[in-house]
Amino acid sequence: MIIMCCKCKKIRSERGWMHSHIPEDRVISHGYCPDCYLQTIEEIEECGIIKHVS
Ligand SMILES: [Zn+2]
Repeated sequence: MIIMCCKCKKIRSERGWMHSHIPEDRVISHGYCPDCYLQTIEEIEECGIIKHVS
């Protein structure tokens, strides 16, 4: 199974996250690469959905 970032369309490989051709017979699971994950968390925080407790 291949993990593809649903934001930047990079796929996860043994060498890290990169743009690459995906064979049509592979099963793709969508997720986030580390960069887009952090970006998404920041976007959510900006919307005030997640509140920090200090
Ligand atoms: Zn990404």
